[in-house]
Amino acid sequence: MAKFDYDLFVIGAGSGGVSASRRAVAFGAKAMICEEFRVGGTCVIRGCVPKKLFTYAAHFAEDFEDAVGFGWQQAHPMFDWPTLIANKDAEIDRLNGIYIRMLNNAGVDLVEDRGVLVDPHTVEVGGKTITAETILVATGAAPFRPDIPGIEHTITSNEAFHLEEFPHRAIVVGGGYIAVEFAGIFNGLGSQVTQLYRGEQILRGFDDDVRAMLAEEIGKKGINLKVESQVERIDKVGQHLEVTLTSGETIAAELVMYATGRNPNTKGVGLEDVGVELDDKGAIKVDQFSQTNVPNIYAIGDVTNRMNLTPVAINEGRAFAETLYAKQPRSLDYTNVPHAVFSNPSVGVAGLSEARARQLYEAVDIYKSTFKPMKHTLTGRDERTLMKLIVDVASDRVVGVHMVGPDAAEIVQGMGIALVCGATKAQFDATIGIHPSAAEEFVTMREKFVELEAEAAE
Ligand code: NDP
Repeated sequence: MAKFDYDLFVIGAGSGGVSASRRAVAFGAKAMICEEFRVGGTCVIRGCVPKKLFTYAAHFAEDFEDAVGFGWQQAHPMFDWPTLIANKDAEIDRLNGIYIRMLNNAGVDLVEDRGVLVDPHTVEVGGKTITAETILVATGAAPFRPDIPGIEHTITSNEAFHLEEFPHRAIVVGGGYIAVEFAGIFNGLGSQVTQLYRGEQILRGFDDDVRAMLAEEIGKKGINLKVESQVERIDKVGQHLEVTLTSGETIAAELVMYATGRNPNTKGVGLEDVGVELDDKGAIKVDQFSQTNVPNIYAIGDVTNRMNLTPVAINEGRAFAETLYAKQPRSLDYTNVPHAVFSNPSVGVAGLSEARARQLYEAVDIYKSTFKPMKHTLTGRDERTLMKLIVDVASDRVVGVHMVGPDAAEIVQGMGIALVCGATKAQFDATIGIHPSAAEEFVTMREKFVELEAEAAE
């Protein structure tokens, strides 16, 4: 008789847990997975996917305006929030069903209930006790809100996907991915948006030119971005909310959304009881093979707070399964992971920011270009695109690619391949552009930005 019920028990059926369990079974393991909310996890159910659908919805506002310059008569279409919510919900239900079927077809046993570790090999789930040789924790993360007076009147991204009424005025607190994405969504769909950020510039950690460009562009689109703004309290006044800043200023809105980061879901999973070490942010500490200090317990995805991106969690899951069940040890390379912010305009990044590249390399060359997208020659829209390359002088390798503008994610994904391949600036230059496109700018930038500045100063 087998010593354990399963070879692998996965807690959490999000992107990471699902990919790990399916791979493990493909390599011959017997696996069970549990999920307390909905199979698909943050990305599919209340993150990337519904957010991207909202982003498309929001962009139509500009598309209708822009069409006029191309001869389309202004139609003044009306936006209907309940239709968007219903259609989005139907799509999420469809994807949820696909994820459940994928698990079934793969032969992974699914329990739709919360799993709690009772000892390093035992999980309590759905009123049963299941044992497994290996446990994988993939419980993700959840929105964090600071504890200030009136915080109970606010929502997070979780609730933003299910609002019954669309707000005329919205305040978004935070300056990271979720804050800029939702500020753009609310703005595009017709809210008057104020975005409050405590620091000097939004998107801390991104390239400074990208940050400045995005702040300028979202301002042009009507978002009232207030930096160095801290919220002191939030009061409900009649039908609306009043946000008081530490400066004493008050701002009214129907909706206040907090996007002030996410905390790893490590509470109530029994981790402390079985001795799994957490870091000071409550994330599970793991080595490069996603192994915790308890040898048979592993963790992947946002719960480890390494790089909180869906494709990274999926790859951590695959690497875990290959390491344990195909006996092909693999760990992830976290350098050059391309990423995007689905703000309006969008941001795409592969490799290093200029500031980081200057720390790592003795000398770097900067190439940058800002221009009006061709489409807007006829629309009259005052929107500009930024493209920037950072090159290590010693090796001529391109070590950073940045873009703010339409389709940045689509364009920079390909640039990510070039960076993984170690492409040099000479190879970028030797690549023929696709004309007319915005992307061709990445292979036609010839003039070093710093040199030009220096020459101008002479
Ligand atoms: P981020 O960590 O990106 O941003 C959090 C923001 O909240 C920062 O601007 C931070 O300011 C601010 N903040 C933190 N604490 C407070 C506080 N007490 N008071 C006021 N402001 C505060 O978190 P998000 O929630 O936006 O997103 C979480 C993660 O999810 C992202 O980091 C990313 O990894 C992932 N994600 C990826 C997306 C994508 O790939 N497109 C989309 C959405 C999320 P400061 O800068 O000063 O610390």
